[in-house]
Amino acid sequence: MDSKLRTETLCIQAGYTPGNGEPRQIPIIQSTTFKYATSEDMGKLFDLEAEGYFYSRLANPTCDAVADKICALEGGTAAMLTGSGQAATFMAVFNIAGCGDHIVASSAIYGGSFNLFSVTMKKMGLETTFIDPDCTEEELNAAFRPNTKAVFGETIANPALKVLDIEKFAKAAHAHGVPLIVDNTFATPVNCRPIEWGADIVTHSTTKYMDGHASAVGGVIVDSGKFDWTQYPDKFPGLCTPDDSYHGVTYTERFGLAGAFITKCTAQLMRDLGCIQSPQSAFILNLGLESLPFRMKQHCANAQAIAEYLQSHEKVKWVKYCGLKGDQYYELAQKYMPGGSCGVISFGLNGGRKAAETFMKHLKLGSIETHVADSRTCCLHPASSTHRQMTDAELDAAGVGADLIRLSCGLENAQDLIEDIAQALENV
Ligand SMILES: *Cc1c(COP(=O)(O)O)cnc(C)c1O
Repeated sequence: MDSKLRTETLCIQAGYTPGNGEPRQIPIIQSTTFKYATSEDMGKLFDLEAEGYFYSRLANPTCDAVADKICALEGGTAAMLTGSGQAATFMAVFNIAGCGDHIVASSAIYGGSFNLFSVTMKKMGLETTFIDPDCTEEELNAAFRPNTKAVFGETIANPALKVLDIEKFAKAAHAHGVPLIVDNTFATPVNCRPIEWGADIVTHSTTKYMDGHASAVGGVIVDSGKFDWTQYPDKFPGLCTPDDSYHGVTYTERFGLAGAFITKCTAQLMRDLGCIQSPQSAFILNLGLESLPFRMKQHCANAQAIAEYLQSHEKVKWVKYCGLKGDQYYELAQKYMPGGSCGVISFGLNGGRKAAETFMKHLKLGSIETHVADSRTCCLHPASSTHRQMTDAELDAAGVGADLIRLSCGLENAQDLIEDIAQALENV
């Protein structure tokens, strides 16, 4: 696909171009396996000598077409779908870092990613140093160790809503000979393309805006093809030396920088871990992608209008949204996402925890859900739900105060949402 095409066009056209008489819509290839005439034909696939499909745990045409579309949107060279955003985060890191290694991660990341690094991957022998994304360059550089293999951050952190200074993180990562992995779930490639700012690998929970209708859980990993693993063969032996589990293939030699990372991640990790996205889910994801630019525009416009309304309301103590002038992250958001950021805002009421509970009970359009980023407005009071086991002091330390309400602005009419919020505030 012509790489100069713009986002709206790529969202519709990239990834799948039917030939004469073929289905216009991406077909759902609901088949676990694929047929061959001779064992020799199939053997070539196993040796990665010929391209083709043989088993849907390794590759499936529907999933590949949708991965290629997201690859084009992010400006990458290769991509793969995964069964969830968690699987994407895990596999993107585990593809280059394992037992005895270390990574540097922003402390402002999704709670699931934080647990993955601080508990589960720690048990596997991988250590993580968490660093405040607003740290100085000196503090960031000091977090690296000789065995550091990657840096990880989130474009807009869920739920802290901090904006990552991608260039600062990329510079530090590259100075230490490791790639920067960015979770771009909240911004989406419509609003930010981290690869253009120096990120090497981009991940997403496609469950959020990309799907956008709360219909299918999924994830994706996109490689920029820019990080030169061969400069650091001792650091990344998995990419630069023969893989005995795959007929002695050396991924960087056989597939070049453009394909090495994703081919290894597919041929080795997906083969062994099996956390694939189903062709059905990929098809649903693709429908979401087609309208992504238009939905993001509306999510952002609604969030902006609601954030401004809340800021002017006497019962509201504070509002966090990087689209608000005066927000701590306004300048960074203007730099990295001049066209809009995301539809999620957070705020607190003067009455604190009690007021938050009362407010949410009276919302009619906004429903209470542990979800964000779909067409319906939803909200969450972490202190009385996801974080209810924590004391107020612990909540403050985690950056999720007892009064914090997270509001994911959907695609409804902004005035209707504001009127709903207004009547709920009257009850507080
Ligand atoms: C939800 C989320 C994830 C995890 O994705 P799942 O699809 O739920 O596994 C990762 N990162 C961010 C920023 C998220 O919001």
